[in-house]
Amino acid sequence: MTDSRWIGAHVSAAGGIQNAPINANKIGANAFALFTKNQRRWQAAPLTLDQIEGFKHNCIEANIASEGILPHDSYLINLGHPDAEQLQKSRLAFFEEMQRCEQMGLTLLNFHPGSHLRKIDIDECLSRISDSINMALDRSSKVTAVIENTAGQGSNIGHSFEQLAQIIAEVEDKTRVGICLDTCHMFAAGYDLTTEEACQHSFKLFDDIVGDKYLKAMHLNDSKTPLNSRVDRHESLGLGHIGQAAFGFIMNHPATKRIPMVLETINSDIWPQEINWLRSLTKAE
Ligand SMILES: [Zn+2]
Ligand SMILES: [Zn+2]
Repeated sequence: MTDSRWIGAHVSAAGGIQNAPINANKIGANAFALFTKNQRRWQAAPLTLDQIEGFKHNCIEANIASEGILPHDSYLINLGHPDAEQLQKSRLAFFEEMQRCEQMGLTLLNFHPGSHLRKIDIDECLSRISDSINMALDRSSKVTAVIENTAGQGSNIGHSFEQLAQIIAEVEDKTRVGICLDTCHMFAAGYDLTTEEACQHSFKLFDDIVGDKYLKAMHLNDSKTPLNSRVDRHESLGLGHIGQAAFGFIMNHPATKRIPMVLETINSDIWPQEINWLRSLTKAE
């Protein structure tokens, strides 16, 4: 991967993880995201050696390095769960997700921080999330925990940069924690991205409060809902309330070099066009 901008989409792994790099290659991606198991179930069959070897082989064929691959964990996991038993269940499942990444030779694991479910206060929930990350990092050695900012819908936390910074502050191994910024979630959480100036301001806030060195990935989505709506509805690039300017800004931001930038936009038919368009926005470096 000689290109400094790694762009792809969250592709299907139907039929097995080994199919994800093939699907990424088909749309002209040099990065991708995937679920390494069914994201709506707790249980998963262990990965077979064939699947793992097939996955690695197909990544090489597609010329996509492991650093450009961003697995996403199960939607069921809540690392800040108020209930002790449920928290334990989530922590175990999260550790298993991390183990699967290690088996696949991957270095990143993207996840949503968690929800307080209106049963514990925000600080307590944030601490639980940090502890959950610490436990998973203690039991693993290669994977970085990549916290995704949220839209702040319902009782989901991690929508403000301050909350993300607070989670990181309590993580012991700062070399293996980072952030995935989702543009739709940022916007829905109140960070304006509609103009170049607005982007400059919002990304400076991120650098000041969290730090650009923690930016490990991005999700590139437009938003069906307006600024600060706290509602998470993705839209194809340029067709939502964010518009086109943000993506030109992001494709030239120094902190987005050599990190996976992944579309989660709603029309997968136009992913090849969206990827080409994003590539065209990066000015000569
Ligand atoms: Zn996500
Ligand atoms: Zn996302």
